[in-house]
Amino acid sequence: MQDCLFCKIVKREIPADIVYEDEEVLAFNDINPQAPTHILIIPKQHIATLNDIEESDQVLVGRLPYVAARLADERGIADEGYRVVMNCNDQGGQTVYHIHMHLMGGRRFTWPAG
Ligand code: 5GP
Ligand code: ZN
Repeated sequence: MQDCLFCKIVKREIPADIVYEDEEVLAFNDINPQAPTHILIIPKQHIATLNDIEESDQVLVGRLPYVAARLADERGIADEGYRVVMNCNDQGGQTVYHIHMHLMGGRRFTWPAG
């Protein structure tokens, strides 16, 4: 997707503070962090919203929480706890239309959010 911000990060057309990469997944620090740890974990493949996940994407999308947990463990926040969030469309608070999992940690979160 030519105009997609996160596709541009995947293609290194715009810079990001990348913290994890494999063949299918990229993770980078959020530019406007809402917690001491705030990482965005994305599939390299463009999928616009949660509503656009195809049956054949399930294994790929399943890697997002897997990588989130690995990164939380690396940062020493796995046991104290953290939050993962995926926002969908306008009312869900989605602003970048390439699916991403927020990994946030290092502080206490309240529930329900917002
Ligand atoms: P959403 O609101 O779609 O769930 O989350 C989008 C996230 O992307 C926001 O937390 C926002 O701070 C982050 N973001 C927006 N533009 C950029 C960017 O250019 N670089 C990085 N690293 N994060 C971005
Ligand atoms: Zn994209």
